[in-house]
Formats: sequence, structure tokens, C-alpha cells
Amino acid sequence: MKIGIFGGGQLGRMMALASYPFNLRFSFYDAAKDCPSAPLGQLFGDTQASVESLDAFIASADVFTYEFENIPVAWVERIAAQKPVYPSVKSLAVSQNRLNEKALFKQLAIPAAAYREVNSPDDLIQTVQELGLPLVIKTTMGGYDGKGQFVLRDSKDVAQAWAELERGAPLIAEAFVTFERELSIIAVRSQTGEVRCYPLALNTHHQGILSHSIVPAPQISAATKAQAEQYITQILNELDHVGVLTLELFDTAQGLYANETAPRVHNSGHWSIEGAVCSQFENHMRAVAGLPLGVTEAIRPSAMINIIGQHPNTADILAIPETHLHLYGKSERSGRKLGHITITASTYQALQERIAQVAAHLPNKMAL
Ligand code: AMP
Repeated sequence: MKIGIFGGGQLGRMMALASYPFNLRFSFYDAAKDCPSAPLGQLFGDTQASVESLDAFIASADVFTYEFENIPVAWVERIAAQKPVYPSVKSLAVSQNRLNEKALFKQLAIPAAAYREVNSPDDLIQTVQELGLPLVIKTTMGGYDGKGQFVLRDSKDVAQAWAELERGAPLIAEAFVTFERELSIIAVRSQTGEVRCYPLALNTHHQGILSHSIVPAPQISAATKAQAEQYITQILNELDHVGVLTLELFDTAQGLYANETAPRVHNSGHWSIEGAVCSQFENHMRAVAGLPLGVTEAIRPSAMINIIGQHPNTADILAIPETHLHLYGKSERSGRKLGHITITASTYQALQERIAQVAAHLPNKMAL
């Protein structure tokens, strides 16, 4: 079976690497000829994003999926009219728009920050009066790694917030959530509706970019785990989602708050390649191909550390026991995700010691 993957970044590359052993083969749609997935399959796409290039891609595979959500819904609809696409157009349309996501949380009674749609500076002033300060202002579409965001702490900065983000309008203004830590849960749903959840990840960000994750997140009560699993299962079922979905959460004194969803494998799930019985990448491809799901349990405590901007010395990292290096074949650039390192250990304390060893060899230590 040939799977067409929309997007040829590192996520597509890891999906292909995980499912090559059970004889799936791949084509990718990405205009960049040197994208991380290029060595692993046939590459389609042009810089004009022409319909002809999309149709050639559609002709190249049996079943389709995507590795990022910032693609036009109309394109996925065009694929869906001819061949199966997982996750569904509905999953994509909800996850790529923050207003749709928040409406879904509300519909499913999943707690989330109070919010308003903002179409003008006047709307923003009105929202400050209704929700108070600080507010987190975000573009409704297209933002990632903290881009397209402004934390409004003083109403005299309304004009500045609007000027910085207006090109991404409509905007969403969210009440600031005071959280103790950031968590995420990843789950996979099969074509028959079976849902399996990975353990919660504890995520640390630096300058808006994920720095590292620890999984299973330490000190999670059974109630919190059950709550997170219930929320993501509700979302998966409501969307009739097939494949992996990620739910980012704020852990607060009042319980879990949903932040956002991603209809795909996620950076906070990269640990699962070595740390789980079946990785998020393999499980996504199993679901897309209509195969049985794999076990989502963690084998041991794991850490995933992102390599951002500059490469470490490969031999230095590989010399550290129980440590795995994944490089995406990208050139160095400030703020760019170039790879990640997974560490597994028998205890959390041993994991922390290994993290410190890895950190000593990273040119860009971020928040480690
Ligand atoms: P996002 O792109 O929505 O994941 O936001 C990026 C980061 O900004 C999150 O990981 C949080 O650290 C922070 N953030 C986003 N929304 C809020 C909010 N409503 N309250 C507090 N912090 C937020």
C-alpha cells in the first residue's frame, strides 16, 4: 500500500521510517526538494502549489494523510473526493482554526480559557473590559512555536498588539491561564473507532518553542490522567478522527484546561520511538492503513530534548548510554528544529542525570 503524505518535514519522515518495516511505501507533497522526507519516497509539489501538482500527487498513492495542519481545506477536500484521507476534513478544519477549536471545547464541556473573536482594535478594547488583563492575543490560523502571539498586559498596548498581528486577522483574545505546568496527551483512533492513549507528557518551552518533554509526566494523579484521557477521547469521537491527535493542556489549581489540538503526530510524542511499545508514528500509519493499533504504554521513563538551531557533535551524544539521536537532515538556522534526542532510563533520577549529560554537549541549551 502506498500512503500519500501531505508535507515532507521531519514528521512525515518519521511516519515513513516507522512503517517502512511493514512494507508501506510513500509519496510526499512538499515544494522543497531537499525536505527531510525526500530520501524516503516520491516527491511532488511546486512553488506555485498548482492543481496539476496536487492531482499528480493524488494519482501517486492509495490512501492519504498529512503531517501539518496549515494546508488549505479545499486541497484535502479535493483528495477526499477521489481517495481516502485520514484524519478527516472535519478534523483538519477544526484544528487549523483556534476559534473552531475553542467552540469544540465548549460544545464538549472541556474547560478552556475564556475567549473572544477580535476583528478590530475596538473589539480588543471591548474584550479587555469583558475578560480583563493579561490577555493572550493569537492569530486564529497559521501560528506555530509561539509565532503570531502577543501577551497584552496593559490596555495602552492595544494598538501595538493590533498592529503586530492584524495581518493574521481575525484574531482570538484569550484570558491568561495561570498554570503550574504544561502537559500534552496524544492518542490514536483506528478506522473501527478504537482509541488508545499515550501517557501524559510534561512539556517545557523556551521562547515559545518546545525545549523538552518528560514522559510519563511525573506526579500525575489517577484523576488527572482519567480526565485527560476522557477529554481527548471525546474530541476523537466527535471528529470521527482516524490517526493520531494531540491535545495540549494547562495543569492548573482548578484542574486541566485545554489549550489546543493538533490533528497529527506531535513533537511531545517523539519520545515514543524508543520509549513506548509502539510509537506515535507507527500507530498513526497503522490507523491510516486500516491496520490494528499497537500498545501505547511507556516502556520506561523517557525524555525528549529538541535540538534547536545548531547541531551537537554526533559522537558526543551517542557516547551517552541509553541515548538516541534523531537528525532531520536540515541546515542550521536560529530557532529551527534540527533533530531531537531521546533518553530512556530505569528511574526519573537516572533520567535527570542523563539529561544533564546531554545538556553539557548541546550548543543551544535552551531551558534544560
Ligand atoms: P499555543 O501556540 O497556543 O500553544 O501557545 C504557545 C504557548 O503560549 C503555550 O505553550 C503557553 O506557554 C502560552 N500560552 C498560550 N495561551 C495561553 C493562555 N491563554 N494563557 C497563558 N499562557 C498561554
